Amino acid sequence: MIDYTMEVTMEAIEALNSMCQMSGNENGGILLGSEINEKYYRINRVSEPCMLIDRSSKCGCIRNANKANEIIKREFESSNHTRFYLGEWHTHPEDNPTPSTVDISSCIIRSIPTQ
Ligand SMILES: [Zn+2]
Repeated sequence: MIDYTMEVTMEAIEALNSMCQMSGNENGGILLGSEINEKYYRINRVSEPCMLIDRSSKCGCIRNANKANEIIKREFESSNHTRFYLGEWHTHPEDNPTPSTVDISSCIIRSIPTQ
């Protein structure tokens, strides 16, 4: 088994919180970050939404690949080639958001016990 450590900065969490939705169609974007050490990454940037508005629904959205690639390139260049794609974010505009089976199958979540 390969262990990785992922950190998320408070700025990134605040940016995600600012995209919170209780209604409307799903929205989403890109998570970017840097390698801190071997197998140690930090998510430090949450992109603006980059979904195809006309392909969004209450329970699904499709990435605008051109815009996503522009964001990834912009962040890579503006960070002296240290910030890159680490994943994606999307909203679940409902009172009690529940991950879909696609969400679950596309993530590996491992909790680290606190001591
Ligand atoms: Zn989802």
